[in-house]
Amino acid sequence: MTRSAIVIGAGITGVAAAEWLRRAGVSVTLVDRILPGRPDQASYGNAGLLARCAVIPISEPGLIFKAPRMLLDRNSPLFLKWGYLPRLLPWLLPFLRNTAPARHRPIVQALAALTSDSVDQHLALARGTPAESYIRQGDYAYYYRSRRDFAHEAAEISLRRAAGFDPVELDREALHARDPHLSDAYNFAALYPDHGWLTSPGGYVAALAEHFMAEGGNFVQGEVADLAEGRVSLLGGREITADRIILTAGAWSARLARKLGMKARLESERGYHLFLQGPSHMPANPFIVSDAKFVVTPMEDGLRCAGIVEFGGLDAPPSRAPFNLLRKRIREVYPDLTWQSESEWMGHRPSTPDSLPHLGPIPGAPGIIAAFGGQHVGLTIGPKLGRIAADLACGGQPNLPLAPYDPGRFG
Ligand SMILES: Cc1cc2nc3c(=O)[nH]c(=O)nc-3n(C[C@H](O)[C@H](O)[C@H](O)COP(=O)(O)OP(=O)(O)OC[C@H]3O[C@@H](n4cnc5c(N)ncnc54)[C@H](O)[C@@H]3O)c2cc1C
Repeated sequence: MTRSAIVIGAGITGVAAAEWLRRAGVSVTLVDRILPGRPDQASYGNAGLLARCAVIPISEPGLIFKAPRMLLDRNSPLFLKWGYLPRLLPWLLPFLRNTAPARHRPIVQALAALTSDSVDQHLALARGTPAESYIRQGDYAYYYRSRRDFAHEAAEISLRRAAGFDPVELDREALHARDPHLSDAYNFAALYPDHGWLTSPGGYVAALAEHFMAEGGNFVQGEVADLAEGRVSLLGGREITADRIILTAGAWSARLARKLGMKARLESERGYHLFLQGPSHMPANPFIVSDAKFVVTPMEDGLRCAGIVEFGGLDAPPSRAPFNLLRKRIREVYPDLTWQSESEWMGHRPSTPDSLPHLGPIPGAPGIIAAFGGQHVGLTIGPKLGRIAADLACGGQPNLPLAPYDPGRFG
């Protein structure tokens, strides 16, 4: 019987794991070097989407031919710090292998198994807690310049349909009636009903953690320096022991997993947001600008524009160009938008070469469970990853086949 557990990392995945363990009657210690919901975690600055239909990995077939052109195009949302390329290769090569058409469909299916009930998973976690007030439910839209651009994505759309997500098509008139400030450049939208979003992802994670602590969960602020079966060591020498350990340290998980002999093959896909406080208008629902690949989400105090993929590792400071690109792109979407002030943020998506998380017992590390690698949908699937990890820690068998997420799959 599991009496005690340590959860390392208090982003969305960690707070979910800790709270589900607490509800199961386990004595839980949640450890993080920062307070939950603060800007140094990916769970703070994302676009806030509970993106049930986001089942298409970025390792799409054909990317291998498109990527070089994108890297040279100043208006493309893909960036690379070239000096980082040699360190990226051990991740990039298997990533490129996953762009093979034969790999694509199984990945889509394994992603859909995690995303499709995500709004319910968030509600199950947050219901009855102060975090519930941050959840909104409604449509999620893809904005296109033209119906032709929508038709160009036929392959992706049919995969989404196969996963149960059928879009409602909006022509120019219907789209501009819904979003009257939209630029004339955007003339078509695909609407996916029954989605969700958060009005403050950081506030939500903080509220979940506060609830966990108010109900008896233990939070320790400290940096984990080492771990082994039943034991976690913090910088400064403090040790914590427990029956089970769950590793949910987001993009930093590989550094800790390495101490257990696990090759996590995890890379940071650095992403950026521009937060526009006091905007002159807001859309009713979040949407993605398909050609520019960034999401616009109405939030508590303003409009969040979030996206961009930059490879450059965990330690380099943010670049300027992604912020300037987001600023330029939002003007193309809403030419008459004004705002009172703005803030900028960069964070780390924890991404694997096959876009699937590491979820399950770590081979060769008894009692230690991995739950990280949520990449672009880590907020969406965080509660489910945390719940499954908590279940495994208690000796349960989830009713989802875990083979695609096997933490040992990269050797
Ligand atoms: C620009 C952008 C937009 C995004 N938009 C969306 C979206 O709309 N929807 C969606 O589903 N996903 C989105 N994502 C992805 C999502 O934000 C992440 O996948 C998710 O937040 C990862 O959660 P996590 O709990 O695994 O990691 P994190 O939230 O990063 O938390 C990891 C925690 O571990 C702690 N930690 C690490 N190492 C240690 C250590 N040694 N000791 C102690 N603590 C440690 C860190 O301090 C951190 O608090 C977006 C990401 C970005 C960057």
